[in-house]
Amino acid sequence: MHELFYGPPQSDESLGFASALFPADVMAKINADLTGAKLVEYLLSYLVQQRLTSVSLQPVDESVHFMARKGSAVREIGTSPLASASPLFQRLRRLAGIHGDGSPERGQLVFHFRGMQLAFEALVLHGEGGDVVTLRMQVLSPFPAICSDFAAPGTVTKAFRELTELRSGLVICASRNPADRDRLVDLYLDELETRGRAVMLFGDGVGRGRKRFPRIPRQELTAGEVAELISAGLEHDPDVVAIDNAGEEQVLLAAGRVAMRRKLAVAGVPFHDLAVLFRYLRHLWQRHHFIPAYLKGIIACRGVLILCPDCRKEYMPQPDELDALGLSELPARFWTSTGCDSCDHTGIKARRYLLEVIPVTAELIGRLETSGDCGDLVRFLDEQGHRGIIAQCAELLRQGEISPAEYVSALVL
Ligand SMILES: [Zn+2]
Repeated sequence: MHELFYGPPQSDESLGFASALFPADVMAKINADLTGAKLVEYLLSYLVQQRLTSVSLQPVDESVHFMARKGSAVREIGTSPLASASPLFQRLRRLAGIHGDGSPERGQLVFHFRGMQLAFEALVLHGEGGDVVTLRMQVLSPFPAICSDFAAPGTVTKAFRELTELRSGLVICASRNPADRDRLVDLYLDELETRGRAVMLFGDGVGRGRKRFPRIPRQELTAGEVAELISAGLEHDPDVVAIDNAGEEQVLLAAGRVAMRRKLAVAGVPFHDLAVLFRYLRHLWQRHHFIPAYLKGIIACRGVLILCPDCRKEYMPQPDELDALGLSELPARFWTSTGCDSCDHTGIKARRYLLEVIPVTAELIGRLETSGDCGDLVRFLDEQGHRGIIAQCAELLRQGEISPAEYVSALVL
């Protein structure tokens, strides 16, 4: 009530950010803003102006250390007391579209700089005392608007089209990147014949495709509450239910129940390692009688960074880097890039989206039931001539379109 009449209380409180980077008047502005908004703004401007690879916030003991990386060199550019950093961590999470306080998290932060709209990737891990946050420039490329924009092998687009002809069952859309996963669910709905069918969306991320459908937001609900919402939604008799993130057991089980009612469910899940996804599905089957017979297909996508052709150069990776590729036949030449004016010093030309579609057949379910090792299922798919994201990445590596580091991150992340 006091604030209502007299405005916010004047205080001498300070964010306590200490740095030699900025002049005194800028430091005063940064420190007077206890929300951390000014600090974030100046840090990102600095990152852009200095063409840094990344800026990281690292809590150690009682302080947050701000580290700037340029190529292989790292230096500290400032510190702030951990005690006043909590609003800053919250602000960064909110700006990056990360709701809740999960870990690890990954989000996108858009920043206006001299009339340009720049995108940054924010990676967040729970650290001792506070978040470990890394901010780096992101190469943005529009997500494919239609399936054929993926430039995927013909067998993949054909399998995708077959899944869009389903009337019932469960289709899983897998990607660890929340934005990519949401767009994949939207793309599936765009390509699905929805005339004469009632569609209902659950979650905050989906619903940005070409078609409009009623959406039930998730907000702060727990997995159990979302599962109840989905059950309540079924009483409205939708023909198609789409869920943005069914990564939690209860939500995926709820999606399974939609399929059991002879409806079509499409659910995003935050995995793109197939072996992990298969292990998870088997766990649900064994523990919760989740019936994989309702599972009709898995669609996965992944954005890979294509090297800038202007600054791409050939190099010989170290032996441990070659080992990490895990390839029985190594390509003859390897490429990397350092950044130039034409790629804004990112070394990257574009993000290309790769698509993978696995129709779930009776044979695959049989394997899921009997196979001891989920890697075995992946090998089975390979034997069937399946060309997944990894195979497509290996091809890009051979063509020198991606670096060995990008190939490894596609394999393991
Ligand atoms: Zn370049």
